[in-house]
Amino acid sequence: MSRLLIIGCGGVASVAVHKCCQNSEVFTEIMIASRTVSKCEALKAELEGKTSTKITTAKVDADNVDELAALMESYKPDAVLNLALPYQDLTIMDACLKAGVNYIDTANYEPEDTDDPEWRAIYEKRCKEEGFTAYFDYSWQWAYKERFEKAGLMALLGTGFDPGVTSVFTAYALKHYFDEIHTIDILDCNGGDHGYPFATNFNPEINLREVSANGSYWENGHWVETEPMEIKREYNFPQVGQKDMYLLHHEEIEALAKNIPGVKRIRFFMTFGQSYLTHMKCLENVGMLSTSPVEYNGQEIVPIQFLKALLPDPASLGPRTVGKTNIGCIFTGVKDGKEKTIYIYNVCDHQECYKEVGSQAVSYTTGVPAMIGAMMMVTGKWNGKGVFNVEEFDPDPYMEALNKWGLPWVVDENPQTVE
Ligand code: NDP
Repeated sequence: MSRLLIIGCGGVASVAVHKCCQNSEVFTEIMIASRTVSKCEALKAELEGKTSTKITTAKVDADNVDELAALMESYKPDAVLNLALPYQDLTIMDACLKAGVNYIDTANYEPEDTDDPEWRAIYEKRCKEEGFTAYFDYSWQWAYKERFEKAGLMALLGTGFDPGVTSVFTAYALKHYFDEIHTIDILDCNGGDHGYPFATNFNPEINLREVSANGSYWENGHWVETEPMEIKREYNFPQVGQKDMYLLHHEEIEALAKNIPGVKRIRFFMTFGQSYLTHMKCLENVGMLSTSPVEYNGQEIVPIQFLKALLPDPASLGPRTVGKTNIGCIFTGVKDGKEKTIYIYNVCDHQECYKEVGSQAVSYTTGVPAMIGAMMMVTGKWNGKGVFNVEEFDPDPYMEALNKWGLPWVVDENPQTVE
């Protein structure tokens, strides 16, 4: 029924490919295209014979618009699912416009080189105007709205777990539980243990940049910025237990502030253990998180990329990670004139994910919603011309699909709240 081009073949893509192959009725044909084609071929070899989805592979440099557009023009997909890195968002969107193909991703644009003077000038202006200093923001991709509208194409941004499912939870809460939502606390808890003193659960470069940056939250129409890890809370997560969590800047706050009318405060918290934080601070202090190249023995080295080469590959954590993730949102607001609070969350078990698709829960909880977002688009359940965030569509078919495809959710109408 549909043909999907998946770009990237890392931890998240591997889960999305497994899930598309379980859903062959919708995804009759997929192409896995990435920089290292041997990874695409290995994934194809693992799945062939176990699925009726027809899998092909290709090598592509997703930084090269012409190469991408030529691949799209020859394969003729109904949509492109971008599971490479946020660095490639704009080149893949440009190629989609050139080839006339719909676009889907899980993370908003961020430049690879944050020292680029042209990008830096725009970034510094945004920091002053908007009041947050994260390197990533939606302005770059929202600026494509008119071009996608004019081309009669759809771009669906941020269909991972957070952003993605957390934003759909918000649309669902607003549709079924509230007349107006006043506060949203997004809580991302990974109660998993991989046994290493230090490792990241997804791409180390993206993960460490996000976590070492200033925190921020949205309150009464503007951003409030904090020092990294300045705000700490404890929370007793269902099925996981008591954890320390820290306020971070996160991209869905920006989209929800725009798309949820009347919202007064949006915060994002993520759990970290002390060992992770101590290692990260040390690496930061010695300069290992820097993205600026340094000369070493006549060779140019980017410290964070060198660090990535030393750390365990996130894809290798699957067999050794035990425990559960719990990700969800606590909403307060009013319904029929009465104040109310609800908590919608999903609990995912690392080992069960590994048994099913050979990956740990962090990749699983992103790869499943990536497949579901693509399914919403190619089946026409979500339809539009332009650039959209997931909370702009009817949440019901997506919520139903989460239950069916491995991420069942719970609504708690009497939850513990966060101070
Ligand atoms: P990985 O690093 O595991 O995989 C990235 C893949 O992209 C690799 O296969 C890599 O190729 C490929 N790639 C990188 N650069 C290029 C290029 N120029 N051309 C072609 N392919 C390229 O990352 P993850 O799977 O962990 O993450 C994938 C995406 O998911 C990221 O954008 C991440 O931010 C996002 N994410 C979103 C979450 C959410 O909840 N919304 C949560 C977690 C991740 P190679 O194999 O050669 O290195």
